[in-house]
Order: sequence, then C-alpha cells, then structure tokens
Amino acid sequence: MADVIVVGAGVSGLSCAIRLREAGYSVRIWARDMPEQTVSNVAAALWYPYKAYPEQLVVGWSRVSYNEFMALRHDPASGILVRGGSELFPWPVGEPWWREAVPGYRRARADELPEGYVDGYVFDAPVITMPIYLAYLKRRFASLGGRIELRTLGSLAEALAACPLVVNCSGLGARELAADGSVFPIRGQVLRVARGELDRFVLDDYGPRGVAYIIPRADDCILGGTAEDGQADTTPDAATAEAIRARCAALDARAADAPALEHKVGLRPGRPTVRLEREPVGAGLVVHNYGHGGAGVTLSWGCAAEVVRLIQLG
Ligand SMILES: Cc1cc2nc3c(=O)[nH]c(=O)nc-3n(C[C@H](O)[C@H](O)[C@H](O)COP(=O)(O)OP(=O)(O)OC[C@H]3O[C@@H](n4cnc5c(N)ncnc54)[C@H](O)[C@@H]3O)c2cc1C
Repeated sequence: MADVIVVGAGVSGLSCAIRLREAGYSVRIWARDMPEQTVSNVAAALWYPYKAYPEQLVVGWSRVSYNEFMALRHDPASGILVRGGSELFPWPVGEPWWREAVPGYRRARADELPEGYVDGYVFDAPVITMPIYLAYLKRRFASLGGRIELRTLGSLAEALAACPLVVNCSGLGARELAADGSVFPIRGQVLRVARGELDRFVLDDYGPRGVAYIIPRADDCILGGTAEDGQADTTPDAATAEAIRARCAALDARAADAPALEHKVGLRPGRPTVRLEREPVGAGLVVHNYGHGGAGVTLSWGCAAEVVRLIQLG
C-alpha cells in the first residue's frame, strides 16, 4: 500500500515521486505513458522559464531547479551539462524578470548580436538531454524502492479509492482528469540534428521570422521551434521543419546544413498559471502540479519541493 500515488511519469511526476520517497513516503506512480512516451521526452531541454506563470512564483521554482541541475551535472549518468548562450531581441529590452534565478547573467555586447537584433542577454544554463535524464530519474526512483504502473485513469477518484493522498502530475491530461478547461496544448515542433561545432544555445522568441532556438545537447542539437496555442496535431510538418531550419540558420550559419536526425512534435501543457495547490476531496487530498507550459523541466525540482511541503501540511 502506497502512502502517496503520483499520477504521471513525466518530469513533474518523477521529480515529485523522488522527493516524496526521499522524505520517507511510500510512493507509486500511476501513468498512462512511460517516461519515454511523454511530452517531457520531447523537451529541448534548456533551463529557461518559458510560457509558465505567474512570474513571481515561477522565478522561485526555477531557481531551485537551476541549483539542483548545477549539482546533478557532476553525475555523468544524469545527461545534464551547462552551456553558455544568449537570448536575442529585435528591440531594446529591460532586465529579465527571471534574473535573480541565474547567477552569471550579463547583457550582450553589440558584437555578439546577429544582424537584425539590437539587444540580448548572455548567461549559462543547464541543458538537459531528456531521454538520458528521464532514464536517470526512473532508475533513481526505482533504486529508492518506487514503482511505476501503467494505468490510464478516467478520473482522480480512481486513485483516491486506492490511496487518500494523490499528486496530480498529469500534464495536458489534467484537462480531463481534473476537469480543468483552462488547460490547453501548445504545439511545439523541433528538428534534431547532428551537433557538429554548435556549442552555444541561442533563443529568439520575438524575431520577425518567428520563434527560433538552438539547443546543443551532448551528442546532438535541437533546432526549434513553434509555439502554437490550441494546436494538438502531433505529426511533424515538412514545411514547418524547413522554416525552423531557416530561422535557426539566420541565428547561427552552422545550423544550415547540420544533418537532420529526427523530427518531433510535443504538446506543452499550457495554462494561464501553473496549478500547484491542495484540494481536499472527501477524506482524501489531491495536490495538483500541472500546467507548466514550456518550462516543466525548468520548474521540476522547485515544484517538487513545494509538493512535498503541501503534503507535509497534513
Ligand atoms: C518542443 C518542446 C520543447 C520544450 N522545451 C523545453 C525546455 O527547453 N525547457 C523546459 O523546461 N521545458 C520545455 N518544454 C516543456 C516541457 O516538455 C513540459 O512543460 C513538461 O514536459 C511537462 O511535464 P509533465 O511531467 O508535467 O507532463 P508530461 O511530460 O506530459 O507527463 C504527463 C504524464 O501524465 C500521464 N497522464 C496523462 N493523462 C493521464 C491519465 N488519464 N491517466 C494516467 N496518466 C495520465 C502521462 O501518461 C504522462 O506520464 C518543451 C516542450 C516541447 C513540446
């Protein structure tokens, strides 16, 4: 018998399950998909608080994760490394709202800005190669005695019937499971290419050509992307892939002919704000932890710590 059932085996569910186990709870994960089949496995994944709200809470959760990833990168099995890089803007900007979460931040010099950009931030950030990292989290949870069971739930009541403490980390699935109509898909298409000499990340969310980002991982590189609110088609589109590559090549010419390895689409769990709160249900308790938008990896350890705190309130 578990003390806690965590619903969901993406980065949110695994991180919460590990922290709860470390806090002494007996934990089972129930999930429709194993980690390899989740949206989390598609994430680029750079530490960066993108499309997740509210900012004043997101910055704190992000900072906790930043520090945790910086510590975890020393374990080669984690799939985490740190890269320098920049976020670019076609107009002058103020200081970033997430600045306090990042120790090594500075403004870009003029000679660091590609043509068409007038401002930018330069900082170091963890890059998390998700297929390696999720496997690492899975092993870590198993070594703590945790189990993942494949189950598709029709409602959270099914989990509450088995265990009075439930943590809901069902991502986009919360739309049905928590009957939450404010959850919506944000379609993201990416192109995985050979890394070659690409070694710095670049982000451009506001350029005239559309969203573009380059995230060099350990052995490959993610070229992105799209952020299409309300779109749920998970089939990669060839014309979109071509446009992504052209946008990335404008940021770094080495992206132009990097050999393509894979095309991927994931549906980010969008929500006006992350839902991280307690909901008493009869004699039981659900702690919700979903709606992390484009930042579920970035928020994972900070939100997991808050989930443990909310559970420990009794
Ligand atoms: C292209 C792309 C790039 C991204 N890049 C980044 C990035 O660089 N940095 C970053 O921080 N984030 C990034 N993200 C966002 C990140 O992927 C998500 O925010 C994060 O994966 C959400 O994790 P999650 O664990 O909450 O949800 P998910 O990974 O979606 O996992 C949900 C889990 O709930 C389970 N579930 C759902 N419904 C049910 C049900 N009815 N019964 C049982 N189980 C259920 C699923 O099977 C799954 O196991 C990116 C996303 C995309 C698509």
